Amino acid sequence: MPLRSSLRLPRRSLLTGAAALAGFAILPHATRAQSANPFTLGVASGDPDPDGFVLWTRLAPQPLAPDGGLSGAVAVQWEIATDEAMRQVVQRGEAQADDRFAHSVHIEATGLQPNRPYWYRFTALGAQSAVGRARTAPAPGDALDRLRCVIASCSNYEIGYFSAYRHMAAENPDLILFLGDYIYETNNEGERAALTVRRHANPEPKDLAGYRVRYAQYRTDPDLQALHAAAPCLMTWDDHEVENDYADQWSARPATDPQDFLRRRAAAYQAYYEHMPLRRLSLPDGPGMRVYDRARFGTLVEFFVLDGRQYRAREACPGPTWAGGHAVTAACTERDDPARSMLGAAQEAWLFDGFRQAGARWNIMAQDLLVASLAQKTQAGEWAHWTDGWDGYPASRTRVLEAIAQSRLANPVFLGGDVHAFFTTDLKADFDDPRSATVATEFVGTSVTSEPAPYDRFIQLLPDNPHIRFFDSRQRGYLSADLTPAHLEMRMQVITDRRDPQAGVSTLRRWVVEDGKVGAVAA
Ligand code: FE
Ligand code: CA
Repeated sequence: MPLRSSLRLPRRSLLTGAAALAGFAILPHATRAQSANPFTLGVASGDPDPDGFVLWTRLAPQPLAPDGGLSGAVAVQWEIATDEAMRQVVQRGEAQADDRFAHSVHIEATGLQPNRPYWYRFTALGAQSAVGRARTAPAPGDALDRLRCVIASCSNYEIGYFSAYRHMAAENPDLILFLGDYIYETNNEGERAALTVRRHANPEPKDLAGYRVRYAQYRTDPDLQALHAAAPCLMTWDDHEVENDYADQWSARPATDPQDFLRRRAAAYQAYYEHMPLRRLSLPDGPGMRVYDRARFGTLVEFFVLDGRQYRAREACPGPTWAGGHAVTAACTERDDPARSMLGAAQEAWLFDGFRQAGARWNIMAQDLLVASLAQKTQAGEWAHWTDGWDGYPASRTRVLEAIAQSRLANPVFLGGDVHAFFTTDLKADFDDPRSATVATEFVGTSVTSEPAPYDRFIQLLPDNPHIRFFDSRQRGYLSADLTPAHLEMRMQVITDRRDPQAGVSTLRRWVVEDGKVGAVAA
């Protein structure tokens, strides 16, 4: 059924959102609005399983105030129905929203029927939320003919409108994957200010109040609200949810004390929890928060959602003023140290265990980064690799690909983001040997809005990286996948112009991966 008709935004909520978007950058206090509507941030669902999913909203009558314009406990009613008009309500309940988690609610619905759509809404403070659509997964042993999944990464609010999100919603997806850089902590300043089409509402966030404002502002975006209301999501983060190029407790700025950085990280993680449809599994725990998880859809597919930031080793060979991404040559022997991990020992063990137990037709690793090696030559003719991505953790990457090969994992496919470019790659047992086995297929999606990877420079690297089958960074957009038992079809979707709030969409490239055959084929 047409998606748009399921989005019943109350008129007041639309007005509040529009006022916030139009007015805030100029008049920071203009959105301390008169409207009491608390549903300014929309609704969302997440992590579907065969008998339920997570439902989310956050009450924020003043979305850009750090406290959302509320204090004290507020009762929130929720309802789940089998029809979008919300006439056949099958479950309802009440939750308390309070200051501890910024009046967010995370309802873990259970006891629903497998493999069917449901609609949901919230009521609080005399107002009703938009109606969102969720969907349960099939029972583990049940077949599923088709799953449509749309995949996003890297949405910088200041430099573009979220047309990609609007078009993702219009694809009527069963599932959304957010692969990181859902917000950007930095503001466009200096020469980058020319790229700005709308302003972040607050200075770079460093504490909980700041991150709450940042996440809330993104959630006022009508295209993002439409996407979340359209389907449940699985999500992981990359670096900008906290700070560019961080690694575990280490800021990319080496002068930052790890204890200070962990305080900042804890604030950012908590705000992420408060704004995402996450389960109790992800409740913030000191400076840590678990987001890695598995999600299975019958016999068709299992998703392994990975966390590439929280547990990784410090980036190799840091400089005196910059410890984040930079190119290093073989002189940086630390890069090859097998003790270093991208995922951390516990997550690696969990993942390899999952590979051994896996039973679905397709196995998709949803994570934040380009996995394939991208070697570049220095002016002196030496090979160099970037430290922030998987190239900075080659031993960890080898362990993951070896575990896939050893467990004979069926149809392994990696999805990633971070680089603001489309990639199709063959993940090789040995990236230095083009004749070595291809272990898995990889697709990376371009950014929703963020600045492209430098096209001319990257194109020149391709002859030295024959496992990279396709690269293009020139357009913004997302990935859209149709999975069936027989094949995976992957579409690289591009929008016409990130500066145009009404941008159109088209398909740049189409790929197919056949069941039982590793590697993508151009379609
Ligand atoms: Fe990014
Ligand atoms: Ca990133």
